[in-house]
Order: sequence, then C-alpha cells, then structure tokens
Amino acid sequence: MIERIKFLKDEINKHNYLYYVEDNPSISDFDYDQLFSELKALEEKYPELKTPDSPTQRVGSVSEKFLPYKHKYRLYSLDNTYNYEDLRSWYEKIAKDFKDEVEIVCELKIDGLAIALTYENGVFTTGVTRGDGITGENITTNLKTVKAIPLKLFENVDVQVRGEIYMPKSSFEKLNEYSIARGEKTFANPRNAAAGSIRQLDSTITAQRDLSIFVYNSSFENIADAPKTHYEGMQYLKKLGFKINPNIRLCKTIDEAIDYCKEWDTKRFELDYATDGVVIKVNKLSQQEELGFTARAPKWATAYKFPPEEVTTTLLDIELGVGKTGAVTPVAILEPVNLAGSTVARASLHNFDEIKRLDIRIGDKVMIKKAAEIIPKVIKVVEDDEHSHRAVYVPPSVCPDCGEPLETRPDEVNLYCSSPTCSSLLKARLEYWASKEAMDIDNVGPSIIEQLFNKGLVRTPIDLYKLTKEDFLTLENVKEKSASNMFNAIQNSKSKPLSKFLTALSIKHVGKETAEILANEFKTLDRFYNIGKDDLLNILSIGQKIAIEIREYFNNKDNLKMLDEFKSLGINPTQEVEQVSDILKGKTLVLTGTLQNMTRDEAHELIKSMGGKPTSSVSKNTSYLIAGENAGSKLDKAQNLGVIILTEDEFLEMVKGNSPKE
Ligand code: NAD
Repeated sequence: MIERIKFLKDEINKHNYLYYVEDNPSISDFDYDQLFSELKALEEKYPELKTPDSPTQRVGSVSEKFLPYKHKYRLYSLDNTYNYEDLRSWYEKIAKDFKDEVEIVCELKIDGLAIALTYENGVFTTGVTRGDGITGENITTNLKTVKAIPLKLFENVDVQVRGEIYMPKSSFEKLNEYSIARGEKTFANPRNAAAGSIRQLDSTITAQRDLSIFVYNSSFENIADAPKTHYEGMQYLKKLGFKINPNIRLCKTIDEAIDYCKEWDTKRFELDYATDGVVIKVNKLSQQEELGFTARAPKWATAYKFPPEEVTTTLLDIELGVGKTGAVTPVAILEPVNLAGSTVARASLHNFDEIKRLDIRIGDKVMIKKAAEIIPKVIKVVEDDEHSHRAVYVPPSVCPDCGEPLETRPDEVNLYCSSPTCSSLLKARLEYWASKEAMDIDNVGPSIIEQLFNKGLVRTPIDLYKLTKEDFLTLENVKEKSASNMFNAIQNSKSKPLSKFLTALSIKHVGKETAEILANEFKTLDRFYNIGKDDLLNILSIGQKIAIEIREYFNNKDNLKMLDEFKSLGINPTQEVEQVSDILKGKTLVLTGTLQNMTRDEAHELIKSMGGKPTSSVSKNTSYLIAGENAGSKLDKAQNLGVIILTEDEFLEMVKGNSPKE
C-alpha cells in the first residue's frame, strides 16, 4: 500500500508539473482525475499515510518564471465528481444541517486558467495566477492586454475578483494551424493554449493571442449593501463592467441542478469556449461561510465533470482510406475507449505530415479528443519507454485500393490517388453525391452504393440516374417498396437546387457554403460556362483561389462532357428563391448561436427571400449579426466592429414588416 501511495504521489506531482508549469500535459484530465481519486480514497482509508506534502492537500503549482505574489484571499480548487449520485450525496450532506432551504447556483466550469484581479478604487492594479492557492505569479502586464478585462470599473470600488482566462476554440485551432505552418510547438487543447499564452515573458506575444475571461467570484471591501448571495454578486460584477458567463442558473433543488448538467452535457459542443463541467455553488453567502473549506477546496461548492472529451488509449493500427478527392487519409484504429459518453475505436490522424510531426507509431499510447466534428482526433503521443523502440511509421507510396502510385500536389499535404478506375475513389464520390450535404438522396446510403457498385451497376453519379426499379430489386433484402423509394428519391433529386448540385460536384475549395453563395449569385448552371474571373471576385467571400478552381472546372473538357450528360438526363439545376420582400436588399447578415424558432437553413432562406445575403463570417461590411443563444466569438467580433446586433426576436420582428434597424 505504501508503495502504491508513493507511486501515485510521484505520478501526480510529475503531471502537476507538466500541466501547471509547462502547460504541456502528457495524460488526459480524466486519467489524471482517476489517479487523484485513487490517492484520495487510499488516504481516507489509511489516514496515517496522509502527509502534508501530498498532492491532495494542495492546489496547483507556481513556476519561477514570474515574480511571486502572495494572495490576499486564498484561491482554492474544487472537488469534483463524474456522476450524479455523488452530486446528490454532496448536496444532502451540506444541506442537512441548515434549517433554511439551501439554494444553489449552477455555472459552466470554464476550462482555462484561474486568476485573481485586484481593483483599488475601481482601477485594475494587480493580476495574479492561482499558483498554489497561497502564492501566485504576478502577470499584471500580460493581463492588461486582455481586452475583456476592464482597466477601470463603472464604480470606484475596492474588489478582488476571481475568473478564468480562456482562449476561444476557434482561435485555438487557428493558433495551432499557424504554429504547424511555422514548424512551432502546438498546444494540446484550448486550456493549455490560454495558460501558455497568458504566462509569456514577453507581453507583446500575449497581446497577439485571442484571450478572454469569465469572472466567477468576488470579495468586496467597504461597500454598502454588499451582495448577500452569489447570484446577486454575479449580477453586480456584470454591472461593474466584468464579463460573466450568461449561462448561470439559480436552482431550488439538486434535481434542477442535475437537469442543468444534463442539458449542458450535450449543448457544450455548440460553444466556442471549452467547458469541462458544471460548478454547483451554495447561493447564500452566509451559508457558504458556515460551510467553509477543506485544505484545497470549498465545501460549499463542487464540480460535476462532463464525460471526458480527451482520453488516452492504444493505437492498434493505421488504416488507409480514399476520399472523394482521391486524398488517401490515415485513420487510427484504437483500443476501444469511452470518450464523451460513447465508445470510440477509430479516430482521425489528419494526414501523413501530422503523423510525422507527432511521431505517432503503431503501439503507442495516444491522447484522443472529441472535436467539434463527430470524428474524434488523435492529438498527441503519450511518451513511454517503449516509444523509441517502435517502428517509425512509413507513409504509403501506392494506393491501398488499386495499387497505383500516389501523387503529391503543389501546396498540399495529402497524397492522392488519381486512377480513374480506383474503386474506393469512385465509391467515395458516389457516396458523397447521395449524401445529405450534397444531393440528399434519401435511402441511398453507403451500403446501397457499395452493392450497386459491386454489381457493376454504377461507376459515376450519372449512372445513378440511369438505374431502373428492377436494378434495385437485384440488391440484397430490397423489396418492391424500398426499390421504388430509392428509384424515386434519385429521380426527385433531379430538381434539387443549384446550390446542392454545385456542392455535389466537389469542385476544389467549393464546399456547401461557397456553393450556396455562388448559386444565389448566378442562379443557373449555364451561367457558369462563361463566367469571368472578375464576376467571381466581385462576390465578397470569393477569393482568387476559389475563382481559379471554378474557372478551371468549367473549362475542363471532361467536366463539360459530364455536365452535358447530366443535362440530357434532365438535370439542369437553377436556384430560385421566391422573393417576398426587399426589406433586406443590399444587406449582409450573419447568424451565430442557437436559434429557437428556425433552423439555420430556414433562417438563410428567409433572409434570401427578403432580398438579403446570408454570409458566414463577420466583417465591417456585415449589416446585422443575428445572435441566438450561446453566441460565441462572432458576437464579440461584431461588437468590436460596431455591427448592429439583433436577437432572434428582433430579427423576426424586423422581417415581419417593420423597417430595418439602423
Ligand atoms: P479544476 O480545474 O478541476 O477545478 C477548479 C477550478 O475550476 C477553479 O480553480 C477555477 O479556476 C475553475 N473554474 C472554472 N469555472 C469556474 C466557475 N464557474 N466557478 C468556479 N471555478 C471555476 O481544478 P484545478 O485544481 O485547477 O485542477 C485540477 C484539474 O486539472 C484536475 O482535475 C485535472 O482535470 C486537471 N489536471 C490535469 C493534469 C494532467 O496531466 N492532465 C494535471 C494536473 C491537473
């Protein structure tokens, strides 16, 4: 037992150093939490083995990079749990000694870096990291570069606030892309990126990073009518000019709090910032005071942690897939593991450069992450003694399917198969053609395509339109009714709008959104045959690269032959949106967050039917930003650029006939 405890302490201390000082963890938070709770349980069982230097008795670490600063108010960590029963037991335990009801407040647990900010007479004076909770690192100069931190409050109060510095997920992705392009070190997740950026010795580097803050707690001095509850305190902080997270909820019962946790367990992926759980706090400050603290955490609060978005597992193999563009991509085959609530056995490895950059070898322990997309990705190798003995991965030189040599293309990291007879490539193109994003042909999914292909009935999308009902009846388990359904779905797709057709063509750089913009602008397929580069460049969001690809596509003889064939089969798509008003004529609108009354596609159609133009990114030319619930970085950008911001209701009000808001 002594041996195990010593092992756990050493292991946790090592990971604390990598996480808090180096901002470069080598295991996932979930794996760390497992080690930590094992140590805690052993120390509870054998209290005589608990020593004051145990990691369970302290919070974080302080590096020697910055000047140390002794906190006026101690900063704590939080106890945490991954299940609702423990949450319920925590509440029952704290509530049982109070006669009054114990209200609780739920907030998102922002996955960033804890800091304390001091204001004297309303002026920001000092900003310090949490460090070990007693002493932190003085990073005032760096914190002054974070625009969301007010340098002067709206009232001249003395206050110390605690909050979490974070980096929006989108900025984190961009920062890593930029670092990869420059051959520099990347960050494993937005939390490490935020911590690494704010703890730079050169504050000009911090200033270049997109950082923000949510403030979640405060201690006031000498103010009359000080808030009596945490919830009121948060509203007061907002009034003073601090940025607080809007997703805060006052709950009367633990069941309401559990509902909040369940709700955010799924909604969290829509946010542009990382949250790893929910913090549940006792609302009344008098009750908080009575409950007090343990050595490292308040007893009046706890954290429910979401099923992990990052876990470690073993890489069993690297499989190769051929996509619709011919790109051969490596896929990680993993020892199945539970990630964010589902079992994962495959993950993306991006491309062969990425495998080389991360030095991923078959047999390695790897950290995988649930990204915004559905497919998880491998983000790093967990170094172990065996890693250097494993074989370095060698990318393929021939197509895994047809055996033809693979090609590289200028300015591209992928390897490509361009054999016109490669069956994986042809099937991938057919699958994409029928997919929801492209022609959206109901019931004709990958397994049907596979069968049609294997029977030699289809090779290209054109062949789909030549199929008869009888052809479908030759497939396994396909009866009269489903044969008719599939046949009709393909025939009906002939009248899909131009935007769908252009998406399905898979012209390089032309994804769903660009296809929509092009279709709305040029309306008919015929118009593309003689489109000029300037016609394309005149569209706000079309750049040189896209313009060149479109022109090349419509100048290529093989493509023109194929389009002629489509026409002869009765497919000559157009884009028609019934114009019901021109109230939004000449206006550009961007949507962000979750809308309550309509889907994004419906909102886009509505905007178009009013003569407006929906676009995806905010710029100074944006006329309106429609901000739904949990709007992210687009809202911040629009605010900075002075773009008019509308709630969903205000937007609906406006299009119902009231004149546009100026
Ligand atoms: P924590 O991050 O689990 O929780 C405490 C912190 O939550 C607070 O200090 C505060 O900064 C933050 N927080 C965010 N939103 C909040 C809100 N609304 N209200 C109050 N607090 C809020 O605890 P910790 O002590 O910072 O770190 C321990 C955790 O860090 C571990 O559980 C683990 O997940 C991770 N960790 C991982 C490694 C690793 O190697 N992967 C190593 C050390 C720590």
